[in-house]
Amino acid sequence: MKESDRKRLHDLAGGRCTICRMPASEVPLQEAHIVSAKADGPRGDDPLPLNQRDTYENTLLACANCHHGIIDKDVEQWPVARLHAVKAEHERWVRRLNEPVSELSGNVNVRATGGDDVAGFRARRPTLVKPGTNINVDATGVRRVTGVEIGGSDG
Ligand SMILES: [Zn+2]
Repeated sequence: MKESDRKRLHDLAGGRCTICRMPASEVPLQEAHIVSAKADGPRGDDPLPLNQRDTYENTLLACANCHHGIIDKDVEQWPVARLHAVKAEHERWVRRLNEPVSELSGNVNVRATGGDDVAGFRARRPTLVKPGTNINVDATGVRRVTGVEIGGSDG
């Protein structure tokens, strides 16, 4: 696989198994072929040409258990289309993990015990607080409570 493809694969998977999401710090991760590199390997009968199988598009990051014990063991349950869908969903999940909060809605509960000055919610970047958002601050014994403080940049 090209070095740029390898880097992209590892970066977009967030260093986690695509199937069980275990992090690389807990389990070694492998580059697993979606369509096997060999014609007689798992899903190897796919029409994808042999010389186009060692690519970012045709691989996903998985732990040994998920790679050999699940997706390559039961190819009926794990066809090419499902693996592509699971990989795309995993990469979306990783992107969301890395996004800072920029919108609040629903109920936000903040509990603060002690302290002179407590902000229930402090945003460090422009944040949309949607109409109907409830910010409940439970801060008994605190001298000053700010429910929402937008634009604080220290701390
Ligand atoms: Zn796994």
